[in-house]
Amino acid sequence: KRRVFVTGGAEGIGKAIVEAFSQADCLVAFCDTNDASGQQTAKETGSIFHKVDVSNKESLENCVLQILKEWGDLDIIINNVGISNFSPITETSIEDFDKILSVNLRPVFITSRLLAIHRKALSFPNPYGRIINISSTNGINTYYPMCIDYDASKAALISLTHNLAFEFAPYVNVNCIAPGFIGTENELDGYDEEFLKEEVEKIMVNRYGDPKEVAYLVKFLISDEADFY
Ligand code: NAD
Repeated sequence: KRRVFVTGGAEGIGKAIVEAFSQADCLVAFCDTNDASGQQTAKETGSIFHKVDVSNKESLENCVLQILKEWGDLDIIINNVGISNFSPITETSIEDFDKILSVNLRPVFITSRLLAIHRKALSFPNPYGRIINISSTNGINTYYPMCIDYDASKAALISLTHNLAFEFAPYVNVNCIAPGFIGTENELDGYDEEFLKEEVEKIMVNRYGDPKEVAYLVKFLISDEADFY
């Protein structure tokens, strides 16, 4: 059974990924700050929930180290957590900016670093591995100046992915997915009708993506057939 760790797996895209792995008979652990949703997702999918805030470096490190100790290794890490502020620069404090980086970017470095150290210490290297980071089209294009911190974190995540791919080759393939507008409950709750209508009109297929559609891409990238990527 492939051993998987997903960050932010209680809701949204992360939950769809946890569901996909559980259906594929993997051993799945995920972390989240939302206790109620975390417990619920764990119950529904038979996965293991760790209540961890990824911006707390000690908690995240302890969680990953505990999983590595219990399972012997991790085959797949999905760095999915991401938050945004959606406020103009004049209303974004330096602390707000730091917070976005500490949730969206630094945890990817932390989980990857621990896996690299762990893999280096193994006397028989695991020939399989995948790290998948969830960035955003906001990391490639700029849509609204109000996402200044979010966009910077998502662009940096693409850069980090390039370096991690070099670092981990050839045993762990590292990829980044940059979704467009995905209609998760939290995403749809956050905006008014008018804004959402305008957004859908900009999307070529005239609808939001479904979280499951991101999970399908993850399923491809973790498959043996995607070993070249
Ligand atoms: P979501 O808000 O629906 O779910 C995020 C999950 O992460 C929640 O369960 C939340 O409780 C958890 N979380 C938030 N902060 C956390 C923290 N500090 N520590 C641990 N868990 C935390 O979000 P989503 O829409 O599913 O987005 C998932 C990822 O996809 C994010 O990185 C986001 O930036 C990216 N993304 C989303 C969209 C979209 O349109 N929904 C588009 C592009 C990229």
